[in-house]
Amino acid sequence: MQHSKSLDLFNKAKQLIPGGVNSPVRACNSVGGQPVFIERGDKSRLFDVDGNDYIDYVMSWGPLVLGHRPPEVIQALMQALETGTSFGAPTHLETQLAELVTQTVPSVEMVRMVNSGTEATMSAVRLARGFTGRNIIIKFDGCYHGHADTLLVAAGSGVATLNIPGSPGVPQTVTQNTLSLPYNDIEGFKQVMAQQGDQVAGVILEPVAGNMGMVRPREGFLETLRKETQKYGAVLIFDEVMTGFRVAKNSAQGLFNITPDLTCFGKIIGGGLPVGAYGGKKEIMSQIAPTGPVYQAGTLSGNPLAMAAGIATLTALQKDGVYDTLETRTSDLMNGFKAAADEAGIPFQSGHVGSMAGFFFTDRKVVDFQDAKTSDLDRFAAFYRGMLAKGIYLAPSQFEACFVSLAHTKKDIDDTIAAAKAVMAEI
Ligand SMILES: *Cc1c(COP(=O)(O)O)cnc(C)c1O
Repeated sequence: MQHSKSLDLFNKAKQLIPGGVNSPVRACNSVGGQPVFIERGDKSRLFDVDGNDYIDYVMSWGPLVLGHRPPEVIQALMQALETGTSFGAPTHLETQLAELVTQTVPSVEMVRMVNSGTEATMSAVRLARGFTGRNIIIKFDGCYHGHADTLLVAAGSGVATLNIPGSPGVPQTVTQNTLSLPYNDIEGFKQVMAQQGDQVAGVILEPVAGNMGMVRPREGFLETLRKETQKYGAVLIFDEVMTGFRVAKNSAQGLFNITPDLTCFGKIIGGGLPVGAYGGKKEIMSQIAPTGPVYQAGTLSGNPLAMAAGIATLTALQKDGVYDTLETRTSDLMNGFKAAADEAGIPFQSGHVGSMAGFFFTDRKVVDFQDAKTSDLDRFAAFYRGMLAKGIYLAPSQFEACFVSLAHTKKDIDDTIAAAKAVMAEI
């Protein structure tokens, strides 16, 4: 497989853009490669500038649950384009998307649109603090909530990939009110609440973690968070930027039957355009300007193109059987990987929740970030490179999730498993 055009474009990009990329993990540093430059996508496939094509399991890091260029989204975008690209004034599209979100995820009584997941979590944290009049935010090691200063503590995703403990540029005064605890540690969390619960403004987490690789919540973990936050009057924030409309129709909170106070969305809610959102109880959401004193705004928030793509995507996801199909494909894929690893005698852990999946090269059961870090990163890198050479595009980091879309066919999954078998035998 030839990558000379990609390499040329990457070298040019590196002169003008830090690392040649606009988001760090894309540089593929941790897997010892260089990025392929994409020309176009179609259904489950990516096509690069050198004429190679790949079955894509990154799907723009999650948003493309319908695949690349789904006809209903393209059509909605064309129609929106006819009327203009941005007005900075209300349109009915914003209410339509809000209605779809509130009907699908009942804990969300009111919702505010923003432009990214980062903005959603940053705003939700501000709102939790404004609403409670308290300062402390509890998060969990290996969860990634975007790159807002307050939340860049023991973070997952690119921060974990690049092995950065925090980030220069974030003053200690900004993070001194952020506590990061081990994911899935029920007793540890209860202890901290017993000591400082009455000063805690909010607890934020990924209800299924996807930014330290994929890690499920342990039985009782989410329930404990709900009970304890209620007891101490803290706001429970589910960061469903990745899990929202991904792990189930009504998101992780529906799947696990837990009602958070606030929820953050991103990725799928924008159907491939830049959208984030945060919402929840009316009582809390009414504290946002202009109805309340907590300030938050956005020039392009509620952008008509982005709303149109979001509406088309969430509408398609209302159809019966959609999530069963996603579940079956993803389960087949992970079972195939596991069988391939077993056959090759390679220590391997894999799992999935809906169409969000992950795997680690370790014999340890992975329930938190410490466990995730026991994965053999060299072996992951070799697997990644081997799969890419066979036309399978996986996330270029151990600490990311794997996404299946409705455009992935049974044959795509079978071909991917066959590739995994061949690669596992060599690494
Ligand atoms: C991707 C992600 C974010 C950040 O969203 P951006 O749109 O990249 O700012 C926040 N939280 C979670 C759980 C994510 O997966």
